[in-house]
Amino acid sequence: MIRTPGDVKTYRKELRDALQNAFLRQTLDQFAAAYRESHAKAFEGMDLESLIADIASRKDSALPRLDELLAAFKKRAEAAGAVVHEAATAQEANEIIARIAREGGVRHVIKSKSMTAEETFLNEHLEREGLQVTETDLGEWIIQLRREGPSHMVLPAIHLSRHQVAELFTRVTGEPMDPDDIEKMVKVARRTLRRAYLEADMGVSGANFAIADSGTLGLVTNEGNARLVTTLPRIHVALVGLDKLVPDLETALTILKALPRNATGQAISTYVTWITGAVPCATAPSGRKELHIVFLDNGRRALAKNPVFSQALRCVRCGACANVCPIYRLVGGHNYGHVYIGAIGLILTAFYHGVENARALVRNCLNCQACKAVCPAGIDLPHLIKNA
Ligand code: SF4
Repeated sequence: MIRTPGDVKTYRKELRDALQNAFLRQTLDQFAAAYRESHAKAFEGMDLESLIADIASRKDSALPRLDELLAAFKKRAEAAGAVVHEAATAQEANEIIARIAREGGVRHVIKSKSMTAEETFLNEHLEREGLQVTETDLGEWIIQLRREGPSHMVLPAIHLSRHQVAELFTRVTGEPMDPDDIEKMVKVARRTLRRAYLEADMGVSGANFAIADSGTLGLVTNEGNARLVTTLPRIHVALVGLDKLVPDLETALTILKALPRNATGQAISTYVTWITGAVPCATAPSGRKELHIVFLDNGRRALAKNPVFSQALRCVRCGACANVCPIYRLVGGHNYGHVYIGAIGLILTAFYHGVENARALVRNCLNCQACKAVCPAGIDLPHLIKNA
């Protein structure tokens, strides 16, 4: 479950405890150093400044047009056989998805990693409805088994050692695991998750892009699990923040030039999946997949109109503002974020999960400007944090 820093005194104690965690500090130090190198290599020879300006201007010009883009997306997606839903709040989104599951006679849900689903606490809601939910991204599955939230937006289990994972897998599978045999642990995860893919009636994903002029969803992943989640079960539900609406493929491809490079230092992620409409599906009684797309507002429309904070909606969720943050590097995401992590997490927490959950966190910002320098969307994060 997500842990929220309470009053400042309790939070200080949590920070002191985190500072004693030598493994965490060493891991995050090594990661930060490796990230710096891979980031520099990934953007070698590119005009990064122009790319950032292009992404910022494309995202900014989409914000005042969110409703127009949504209407265009809906028209195209529904013409291709999808059903488009709108949720004003996190609770409403969860209820819509639970209703789709109920009406579809669903018992087992598989999920690919989605920060939007973390934002709405979707898993907890579906489990309360009696559904079995299995995360299929390896890191997400690990933290689901530990009943905790992600400590990084892209690398959710970065805070855990192989010893902790081996212990967890031994407990869950009943099979003794050697912490040095990572290959075997991955095999065990693959075997267990494959069973879940085949048993599931419904797949839930997020989306990195919702392309208005074609009604297409775009998903950027590395493990291939999102492709299985969106392909195998007879029902697919995509939960998408309104901020993921872009006018056209060209805008999505412009963002795609920066997203994997900035997130993991890759020129392109292993998988980029484009989904338009209800495709043929062998396991569906009608022979066609049931595709539902749930757009989430949860404060985004108001944020889009905010003259100071609207730029936060440019965020493409690369996670880089955590990678370069000296505070994150010291105490990790569970102590420097609520659901969303890193510099952007401090701002989104205030807007999506309440200022009371952000109040203690923002006090740690050193205003070092590292997050601003690395953000591919040109968000002035230190300025926003100062005003949060
Ligand atoms: S604010 Fe910028 S650096 Fe941070 S996750 Fe979003 S796009 Fe990436």
